[in-house]
Amino acid sequence: MQRLLYEKAVELGVIVKLNTRVASIRQSEAGGPEVVCKDDTIISGDLVVGADGLWSRCRESLLKATDHPLPTGDLAYRITLTLDQIKDEDLRKFVSEPTLHFWIGPGAHAVGYSMKSGTMYNLVVGDDLPPEVSRRPGSTEEMRVLFDGWDPLLTRMLGCVETVDKWKLMHRAELPSWTNSAKNFVLIGDSCHPMLPYLAQGANSSIEDGAVLGKVLSYVKTRQQLPKAVELFEKLRKSRGEKVARETFHQRHDFHMEDGPEQEERDKIFASQLGKNEPEVKFPSRWNCPEVQPWLYGYDADKEVEAAMKEWPISS
Ligand SMILES: Cc1cc2nc3c(=O)[nH]c(=O)nc-3n(C[C@H](O)[C@H](O)[C@H](O)COP(=O)(O)OP(=O)(O)OC[C@H]3O[C@@H](n4cnc5c(N)ncnc54)[C@H](O)[C@@H]3O)c2cc1C
Repeated sequence: MQRLLYEKAVELGVIVKLNTRVASIRQSEAGGPEVVCKDDTIISGDLVVGADGLWSRCRESLLKATDHPLPTGDLAYRITLTLDQIKDEDLRKFVSEPTLHFWIGPGAHAVGYSMKSGTMYNLVVGDDLPPEVSRRPGSTEEMRVLFDGWDPLLTRMLGCVETVDKWKLMHRAELPSWTNSAKNFVLIGDSCHPMLPYLAQGANSSIEDGAVLGKVLSYVKTRQQLPKAVELFEKLRKSRGEKVARETFHQRHDFHMEDGPEQEERDKIFASQLGKNEPEVKFPSRWNCPEVQPWLYGYDADKEVEAAMKEWPISS
């Protein structure tokens, strides 16, 4: 996916400069945006798109203030298992099925799906990393203890794991705006709407941002139309990006419930839908909830922009 995006960008004439850290974004005296790099080079253009992720410098430039990511209190164990690491025949059959599996329980959940003829598992538990650490090797033993007593299939699978990475899951407060007042500098992706990875939407919604921005810009014919296009991009994307991010926290709530009346109610809903092809009621897992799934996973960036252009044409 990354290579495809890269190759397409180069084909379209994009110049990629690696190993070039951005220090800040500023406005030139003439009024255009400028990227100031750590090596003191300055790149100017009509529009700057800050897509520098969770630890964004661009965000700090937009806010004109220091602004660090905030811990969510969760961390993810990220594991990749290949079939040859698994000797147990039942497990081999289970992990090679092209099916998404969830295990949920108090304070944690695990998700597993097959890819590249192997299997990847993200296992999520309460945060116990020091504040300054974002990622480091985790202990497989510590992870096994956390899931002790869960589904034997899961614990047998964890028995096959040799190494595991721990990721601290961070988030950010919602911004008043993703753009500057001149509408020539815009943030996209994790720099403005990071989220928990519980709906597999972080990279996806970042790509949606890129698709919408690209499509909106394709309508721009003059420099004067650019601010309106940037405004339209923000109008289309900010509410959705932030809604998706909030939904990941709702998903955490519903997956990680401690034992008690609320958890019992949730489990009754799960049980009531067993054996049905699709859940027919509001469902605790948004992955196939009939209320959330359609807007979350059914988004079409092209259609969104085409409809918006009819309502708010940027040429008017
Ligand atoms: C455990 C885990 C599991 C996840 N699972 C999924 C999933 O299943 N599906 C999904 O869609 N998402 C998932 N995500 C989220 C996804 O990884 C992010 O949302 C996505 O990478 C954000 O894309 P981005 O382009 O905004 O930022 P990033 O991917 O972080 O890219 C930012 C880029 O900017 C560069 N950069 C940063 N600062 C500077 C600077 N000062 N100068 C120059 N360059 C700079 C970085 O080197 C990087 O290349 C997961 C995340 C985690 C932690």
